[in-house]
Amino acid sequence: MPAPNPRDRTPLRGGPLRGGCLCNAVRYQITGVLGPLGHCHCGTCRKSHAAAFATTARVAWSDFEWLAGRESIQSYESSPGKQRSFCGACGSPILAAWDGDDELILRLGSLFDDPGTRPVVHIWTEERAAWFELGSALPTLPRGASQPDASATEHREGGKSASRDQANP
Ligand SMILES: [Zn+2]
Ligand SMILES: [Zn+2]
Repeated sequence: MPAPNPRDRTPLRGGPLRGGCLCNAVRYQITGVLGPLGHCHCGTCRKSHAAAFATTARVAWSDFEWLAGRESIQSYESSPGKQRSFCGACGSPILAAWDGDDELILRLGSLFDDPGTRPVVHIWTEERAAWFELGSALPTLPRGASQPDASATEHREGGKSASRDQANP
């Protein structure tokens, strides 16, 4: 696969893209175009998201608007000049930005809407989690289903019973 051109931009279809945090205090919209979507495996993204990677895309600040909760946003300077911004109430990562840059780096997991485009690249893979296998195809389970080894894993998502969920295909 050819490397994505960082200048490629995906026009938005069907109006602004909306997003926000887990507790819904923070909401935003994007009215412009997104840069290529990528999964970032760098150590700071992994830590700040407590996840295998963070999916991100560049967005011009001029296309980004806070709709609610701007005052709830807190930032952490994870590298000199790079601020990672999150909801101070629920902790959801929202964006990162280099001081003085005219673009922000959106955390795609905060979107409510489908951006209409799909990730094209994994980056910073040298720093990926030891337990994350690039390119592995894992089984998929429907919403609410228990993990295969549920007896050894605390799993109380949605308060559903494991016995019922395991009956689902
Ligand atoms: Zn929140
Ligand atoms: Zn990263």
